[in-house]
Amino acid sequence: MARILLLLAIVLGIFWWLRQRASARQATERPAQRRSQASGNGGNGGNGQDTEPMVQCAHCGVHLPRGDAIAWHGLHYCRRSHLPDMPGEGDNGARS
Ligand SMILES: [Zn+2]
Repeated sequence: MARILLLLAIVLGIFWWLRQRASARQATERPAQRRSQASGNGGNGGNGQDTEPMVQCAHCGVHLPRGDAIAWHGLHYCRRSHLPDMPGEGDNGARS
C-alpha cells in the first residue's frame, strides 16, 4: 500500500517538475523575443507590428496571445476551466 502512495508521489512530482520547466522556459523566451523585436525594427518583412507575445496554457499547453490568456499565480491558462482550482462561481477577477 505504501508503495502505491510512493509511486503516486513520484508521478505527481514529475508532473509538477515538467510544469515548472515549461513555465521557466517561457520566462526565458520572452525577453529574447523582445530583444529580437527591438533589434529588427524596420529590417526584415513587415509582420511584426502589434503581435502580442504568445503564452502557453499551463494546463493543456496550447499557445495563445497573452491578452486572451488568463493570468493566475504567474501562469497562464487558455480558459477558466483550466485553472488548477476554481475559487468558486465568482466570474470576476482572475483576469488582468
Ligand atoms: Zn488550456
